[in-house]
Amino acid sequence: MKILKFGGSSVGTPERVRRLVGIVTEARRDGEVAVVVSAFEGVTNALLEAADAAARRNDAYLDRWSALRARHHQAAEALAALPEQDALLRTIELRCNDLRDLLHGVFLLRECSPRTRDSIVSYGERLSAPIVAAALRDVQIDADPCDARSLIVTDARFGRARVDLDATYPRIRAYLEAHVGSVAVITGFIAATMGDQTTTLGRGGSDYTAALVGAAVEADAIELWTDVDGVLSADPRLVENAFPLRVLSYDELMELSHFGAKVVYPPSIQPARSAGIPLVIKNTLEPNAAGSRIVASAPPSTRPVRGVSSIDTVCLMRLEGAGMIGVPGIAARLFSALAKAEVSVILISQASSEHSICFAVAPEDAERAQQVLNEAFALERDAGLVEDLVIESDVAVVAAVGEAMREQPGISAQLFGALAHAQINIRAIAQGSSERNVSVVVTRSDVQRAVRAVHRAFFGPPNERVDVVVAGAGTVGGALLDQLADAEAQLADDGIDLRVVAIVTGSKQLRDAEGVALDDWRAALVEAPARDAFVDADAARNADAEAAFDDVILGLGLDDHPSVDAVVPGLFDAFPPAVGRARVFVDCTASAEVGADYGELLRRGASIVSANKLPFAEAPERVAALRETARRGGVGLRFEATVGAGLPVVATLDGLVRTGDRLTRLDGVLSGSLNAMLDRVDAGAALSEAVGAARDAGLTEPHPWDDLSGEDVARKLCILARLAGREDVVREDVAVTPLLDPAVYADLDDDAFWQALPAADAAFAARHAAARAAGQRLRYVATIDDDGARVGLEAVDAEHPAYAARGPENLIALTTARYAEVPLTVRGPGAGPAVTAAGVFADLLMIVDAVRRV
Ligand code: ADP
Ligand code: ASP
Ligand code: MG
Repeated sequence: MKILKFGGSSVGTPERVRRLVGIVTEARRDGEVAVVVSAFEGVTNALLEAADAAARRNDAYLDRWSALRARHHQAAEALAALPEQDALLRTIELRCNDLRDLLHGVFLLRECSPRTRDSIVSYGERLSAPIVAAALRDVQIDADPCDARSLIVTDARFGRARVDLDATYPRIRAYLEAHVGSVAVITGFIAATMGDQTTTLGRGGSDYTAALVGAAVEADAIELWTDVDGVLSADPRLVENAFPLRVLSYDELMELSHFGAKVVYPPSIQPARSAGIPLVIKNTLEPNAAGSRIVASAPPSTRPVRGVSSIDTVCLMRLEGAGMIGVPGIAARLFSALAKAEVSVILISQASSEHSICFAVAPEDAERAQQVLNEAFALERDAGLVEDLVIESDVAVVAAVGEAMREQPGISAQLFGALAHAQINIRAIAQGSSERNVSVVVTRSDVQRAVRAVHRAFFGPPNERVDVVVAGAGTVGGALLDQLADAEAQLADDGIDLRVVAIVTGSKQLRDAEGVALDDWRAALVEAPARDAFVDADAARNADAEAAFDDVILGLGLDDHPSVDAVVPGLFDAFPPAVGRARVFVDCTASAEVGADYGELLRRGASIVSANKLPFAEAPERVAALRETARRGGVGLRFEATVGAGLPVVATLDGLVRTGDRLTRLDGVLSGSLNAMLDRVDAGAALSEAVGAARDAGLTEPHPWDDLSGEDVARKLCILARLAGREDVVREDVAVTPLLDPAVYADLDDDAFWQALPAADAAFAARHAAARAAGQRLRYVATIDDDGARVGLEAVDAEHPAYAARGPENLIALTTARYAEVPLTVRGPGAGPAVTAAGVFADLLMIVDAVRRV
């Protein structure tokens, strides 16, 4: 006989139940089958919430109840044909009425005891089992629902009752012997005391039910059907390249599940192990996938570590005191006090000095643990031999598990090295005495990064493929896409699988999950679905926030969501990042709205490369927060192209500051466009001619006033100030002198602007002539010094760094504590689509290298 247990997600919808029916049909070809079912997905939680609401006298419990009733009705109607359906609906109706009465009782009493909670929560399985049995009968499989409360006998520890095996096994055997030939559909999770009080086996307890049934009848296998391809090397919600383990030992599974691998409920392992029955984990959605097989001794794996798991909420407690040194029996007293209070200890580590003992417990046990230990060590505390218990509640545990660890030296070192490399602080360490497990306690907010870092250290880098979304296909975005197209072959030769999966603009969106063909992206974008046929950077700039965000999200392949508001909270749960892929969002727009989404994107695991100045010229704390979010999430945030186009300005300044240098002064020419105009004036052109020539060369913004106003330069200066940690320099405080009088030129439309421009020529020429007579040049200069920051047209002499800048050059002179005498100067062409796009491309490759690195 085989036991097939189907978890909540395997019975979540009628469609899934049909798959279950198919799997059972298949299994019956090889022999007898018994089925164990969980409540429908989400129902156990909904029942607990209804109970809580009722106890708070909140009549929302009735809404939850109605929704549950409707859901089960609908499933019954979908899965059973008449006349069977009528009988099934009556059963559901009766159960739902009982449930409502119970909830109403709680509502009246304003109190829900653990015992009542167990009764309420039992309805989940008591509703799913008859529906599943009916679905089997509907395809002519003889099947009967079976209420496990008549089979599994427990004590009265409600919520997590202990099973009386001697009473339970004979009952299970008797039931199944009496029902040979028909498939028993047994409710998981629920049981009863000798006195017929309903109990439950703990969350996830259906696995345990299946193990008990299997052990009782010495089944050939106990199969747990769930929504993943078996036990994976790590929680797939934390590690994108977690992979299924084909075979592992009961002991390894025990360690993994004890430390948080939710896929199997830990108590289920013991009955299977002692009866020597293999546990098999299979995927209901992919029945043909191999799944995992758990046996007494698994063949050794090639790697020392089999898997990584984590518990993200634990409480770390430490008993310390001089009076503990050399006194035997302290640890024994501590742990027996905890055992007596039924507090289970997740992990223990004792300093070799014996001066302190550190252990971790579940948060719900923390208060009880504290109380019993205060009592147990009351005398020592009064005498000052033992200090007050230290409690840290913001911590998590990460465990690396594998039988082969005990044979190989240096595994712990490798693990600690990986955590150190990721800059994760280890707060406590414990090694299981079996040497099958090393666990570390880390700060809770580090847990995901810690699991990833450990997984990566033992199983290699997660990202074989880098999916890129390019937002904005105007001058810079367009040039980037062209460069990517040209570089395709070379990237492939370098082993870089980089794919542009989406090009999004304010009006268009071109998507292909396998990669947009770049040789002809322009034409494809024109054909792509449009809100508006016009495609360029301006359109992207004008996109409203919602649409821009939607585009970004859609571009990342996180689609099928009706509205952004509905997406934000649960998105990561609903869409775990694709296996083996990194995502990079490339922002070639000039949109503040797109910038506003950066935090969200980073949090969701996308790296960002940006040529968009707005997000980085913002308030210091906003920029710092973005950089911190990226650091914490282990993703990249690069924006070299925002200043000096492709020149290494951002990286240079950042490198100086991060190695401890301090910026004392910055002088520079930060606008290649303005410099090209001024240089042309030097060569004898009128200002209006020079502006026109710069525009024709593609050096200016679409509307030249955006350059001439100085606004663009002020922003770049703020970006540099952010990198330099100059919190006093914010956009409002940068003194900006436009190159032309804003009273005349600021608000003109394109035509009017070009018409009005020649009027400025004469005055400008005079200013230029005066400067030349004094041996000076007119340059649009940006400065940060002790007085703050300013940008504007200045007549500079040959000593000034800006004097040398020719054509569309940028020139940034950094005077720092280290470069105090002669400033470090970065100089080169600083405007134009090709060089800017090259800066973006270089950043993109930096990110690709980082995400592929072990
Ligand atoms: P069921 O409802 O079928 O009992 P569970 O939700 O209890 O399923 O357990 C399966 C889930 O456990 C998976 O969807 C996965 O998200 C999570 N999980 C955590 N760690 C692991 C792991 N190491 N291997 C497989 N799944 C894991
Ligand atoms: N339905 C129960 C729970 O959600 C038992 C289970 O699914 O295993 O915890
Ligand atoms: Mg489960």
